[in-house]
Amino acid sequence: MLMSLPAPRQTQDSTLALLVDRDQDTRHMYAEYLKLGNWRVDEAGDGREALAKAIALRPDVIVTDTRLPGIDGVTLCDLLRRDLATSTIPIVLVTGEAYSADVDRAVAAGADLILTKPCHPEQLEAQLRSVLAHAKDVRIRAQALRSNVHDQLARADDVLSRAVDTVHRRHSLKKAHQRGDTINPPVTPPRLVCPSCDKMLVYRRSHIGGVSSKHTEQWDYFDCEGQCGTFQYRPRTRKLRHVV
Ligand SMILES: [Zn+2]
Repeated sequence: MLMSLPAPRQTQDSTLALLVDRDQDTRHMYAEYLKLGNWRVDEAGDGREALAKAIALRPDVIVTDTRLPGIDGVTLCDLLRRDLATSTIPIVLVTGEAYSADVDRAVAAGADLILTKPCHPEQLEAQLRSVLAHAKDVRIRAQALRSNVHDQLARADDVLSRAVDTVHRRHSLKKAHQRGDTINPPVTPPRLVCPSCDKMLVYRRSHIGGVSSKHTEQWDYFDCEGQCGTFQYRPRTRKLRHVV
């Protein structure tokens, strides 16, 4: 009779846990259990080794006892948070001293989770999965937030450029509306004398035309003081002609 073996529990191959504990037996116990669950595991026996391995290996999660030789677990946590290379790695602190002051210190140092001893390996693994899932959520939310910000900036740009377009359109419409008769033409009408009687020509109005606001044409109209009639002056050609 064939025994059906339980299917190996599947996790991502890349999930690497760094276990930090001064007690080798404790580390091995957790390490063996996690390896059965397809975790990759590395170990460190003190804070300095843990710090070096964390920076070099960039594990997916770090589990550390609070009591370590040299650099203690909370200080290690604080140092990891301060280093850009390790600042976002989830950290689980395992402590035998579950006093609120220690928990506060651990939280202040940036620990994601504080577990109290004794902590069964099965419980540890479940908590690690939870912490990793949460960390992934946080990363996804942070990404979504960033892309939201990009979207909003893009939308703001869009709104702004449409507003600028509208202003430009209004401006050119306004210029277009300026076509026609005015007494305030772009080019100031000259003072002219009548070519027939040499009396002053009295400025009356200008007519603005042309194909666009950038290519306007202007015609100035004058009446002769001596009743010779109306004259048209074109600034561009500087020609004066009798029109009436
Ligand atoms: Zn005249």
